[in-house]
Amino acid sequence: MEPAGIPPPSCAPDREAEEPPGSPALPAERPRDGEPARKAREEAAAERSSGRGPAERGGGRRGPEEREARAVRAVRAVRRPRVTVDSSKAKTSLEALKISLRQLRWREFPFGRRLPCDIYWHGVSFHDNYIFSGQVNKFPGMTEMVRKVTLSRAVRTMQDLFPVEYNFYPRSWILPEEFPLFVDEVRMMKESDPSWKPTFIVKPDGGCQGDGIYLIKDPNDVRLAGSLQSRPAVVQEYICKPLLVDKLKFDIRLYVLLKSLEPLEIYIAKDGLSRFCTEPYQEPTLKNLHQVFMHLTNYSLNIHSGNFIHSDNANTGSKRTFSSILCRLSSRGADVKKVWSDIISLVIKTIIALTPELKVYYQSDIPAGKPGPTCFQILGFDILLMKNLKPMLLEVNANPSMRIEHEQELSPGVFENVPSPVDEEVKVAVIRDTLRLVDPQKKKRKDFQSQSSEHVSETKEDLLDAGPGGGLDYDTSRNTEAGLPSLCLKQVFPKYAKQFNYLRLVDRVAALFIRFLGVKGTTKLGPTGFRTFIRNCKLSNSSFSMASVDILYIDITRRWNSVGIDHRESGGVID
Ligand code: ADP
Repeated sequence: MEPAGIPPPSCAPDREAEEPPGSPALPAERPRDGEPARKAREEAAAERSSGRGPAERGGGRRGPEEREARAVRAVRAVRRPRVTVDSSKAKTSLEALKISLRQLRWREFPFGRRLPCDIYWHGVSFHDNYIFSGQVNKFPGMTEMVRKVTLSRAVRTMQDLFPVEYNFYPRSWILPEEFPLFVDEVRMMKESDPSWKPTFIVKPDGGCQGDGIYLIKDPNDVRLAGSLQSRPAVVQEYICKPLLVDKLKFDIRLYVLLKSLEPLEIYIAKDGLSRFCTEPYQEPTLKNLHQVFMHLTNYSLNIHSGNFIHSDNANTGSKRTFSSILCRLSSRGADVKKVWSDIISLVIKTIIALTPELKVYYQSDIPAGKPGPTCFQILGFDILLMKNLKPMLLEVNANPSMRIEHEQELSPGVFENVPSPVDEEVKVAVIRDTLRLVDPQKKKRKDFQSQSSEHVSETKEDLLDAGPGGGLDYDTSRNTEAGLPSLCLKQVFPKYAKQFNYLRLVDRVAALFIRFLGVKGTTKLGPTGFRTFIRNCKLSNSSFSMASVDILYIDITRRWNSVGIDHRESGGVID
């Protein structure tokens, strides 16, 4: 069953997501020590000494309105330190981050800080900084997990267990190790269906921006010589019938927030970007296989085509908002609600495929009890809509580009970076709302508000906004949220957990692995660890001695090595 009734992004361009004019950064942590603040502190001190909340102090003598007003005043006036963000490692996401922080009126440390910050914003990886507290916008192991080979392997595990549920990922083979299997399987499929004339796409592992990608018709055209031996790759069935808009192939970049791994919390941005090819699409033939502007939707490739159209309008040009596409589809009578709910399923299932190994990485980098930050991460999902509107996963990016400008050729060979309103509209909203969702002060505010409003609950809507997202897992305090648009990120997990929990089988195996192995600082299982694992699981007995355990270990290690898996890349668990 798929999530039902999830509203697709609004067709109207989401003007709300724009930066409000005139939102300059506030000066550094200036205490707002006016009279109300002093009063609130006195009140707070009185509450502490009496052990009662502000409303309580009124006893039965004051009316509910007065008590409520006092509580509102206290919440507004109390001095709150601003959230601190270390942006020194933000790299290309810096501009969008700065705008977001200005909108939130949070405090940025562009050169880092000696004291710990609440949030560390990394452009590349978890390990960009040594952090022992706060939150960081990257999970350890994510970059490794979403590489083409590792992602294919993780999805394959799930396809073996749940073939129907995971049919949103094209059939793939890992090269070079599965080259003979690839050749055999294609031959067999052709024999059983002679009308099948497939095309395949070869993608080097760890590549990005279309780098090294090529199309083939015949498995024997895989370039096995030279580079492939040293650089693994994925060969995949090419989706020949993509949905076209204006006769062009396009893909969707959707932003997904993995807010927490344990418990699993996933949010999806209401809007994404559609990146267009710059040559009209034709189904692949031997003649057009090499035409990258026709077959590959990468922005970084198509920008170099003479046909690339920069547009400040979200509905036109070579990069548009996804909502503008949905709007067009809707006007043609397509069931966009179904498209959207299929996309949500795809995202949840993909993350479920990634979580087992991610948890092992997490335990290894931040073992329970060791001081460390908590993590969240914005992922870029690249999705292709087929002609029949079925979404197919192309890849997941651990570091989706958050640039809000693009290069423009002023005169031949002379380039300049100019703002890109379409990118800014989507990306700033994603970063800002991610920060709102992980706001470390939110919990403190909630605690304070629940104290203050305990006795004014009849009229509590004045203290807490349910949030325009209605039912979203987010409470909006008027003080800091005033003037901000509604959240562009919608929770999909645990919201739809019931429909997907049965898929979390491997996740449970990983949890057992972590529990019994007691992974600390490593993802690898050595011979001693394997013995401990067997002992903890109470698997050894008179007929399965420790000597047999050692032999089993050697056997597994040999098999593992013989499939030529690079342990470091795959997050392998056997040393
Ligand atoms: P990269 O990380 O280099 O961008 P992708 O996996 O995203 O690699 O592939 C690049 C482009 O190739 C995609 O944006 C898409 O246009 C096209 N593409 C990738 N895989 C397929 C596929 N299986 N079928 C059709 N087109 C594909």
